[in-house]
Amino acid sequence: MDSASPSSEQPAQPAGPASQPSVPAPLQSGKHACKDCGKEFGAPESLEQHVSAKHAPQQESRHKPAASIHSKSGRKKSRTTQYVIAFIIVVGLVYGYLNMGSKPDDLDGIRCESMEFNVMHIHPNLKIFVNGTDRVVAANIGVSASCMYWLHTHAPDGVIHAESPVKRNFTLGQFFKVWNRTQRDTLPFQLNATPSQVVVDGQNHTGNYWNITLADGQKIELHFP
Ligand SMILES: [Zn+2]
Ligand SMILES: [Zn+2]
Repeated sequence: MDSASPSSEQPAQPAGPASQPSVPAPLQSGKHACKDCGKEFGAPESLEQHVSAKHAPQQESRHKPAASIHSKSGRKKSRTTQYVIAFIIVVGLVYGYLNMGSKPDDLDGIRCESMEFNVMHIHPNLKIFVNGTDRVVAANIGVSASCMYWLHTHAPDGVIHAESPVKRNFTLGQFFKVWNRTQRDTLPFQLNATPSQVVVDGQNHTGNYWNITLADGQKIELHFP
């Protein structure tokens, strides 16, 4: 009996403590209990599911602030997106406006527009002589069906009309550029020709006649050989 009782106890003792920590709490009923709440589950998998679903405080607490951060940053993102979109629209508008200011019709910043302006409105007079003959400065130079350059003529009387919405300098050369673009056929001389004499308001003009700044009532004479 003495030898039998310890031998009968020995297998029971190591079996008891060894089985408790290693196996996830198999109950006598064969079920698995949750350490935290004591709920019982038939399979260890469903216990794991339960633990991860109900007793994963770290994950849950991380998730909740994360969610609120998400919605905040989401709001921030949509704000940022709005700013970016607004910025793109503004840039587009500015770009479009600047492009309007430099249409292909432009010549040295001289626009061709559908209406006349008189913020600046001056009338220099131009006479062109070729081989001693007075040649016509044509009517409607700088005028097309759709628009009118700030530099133009109305009648074939040699009056240049400089009419623009801004006060600025215009040169005789710019008038010839407009003439060359809009009525090349009526130019009475080659644009690269050198005049034999240039007279401005009764004074001989030296230097390039293209650089003459137009003025109201000015009298310009160009003499070509
Ligand atoms: Zn006009
Ligand atoms: Zn005018």
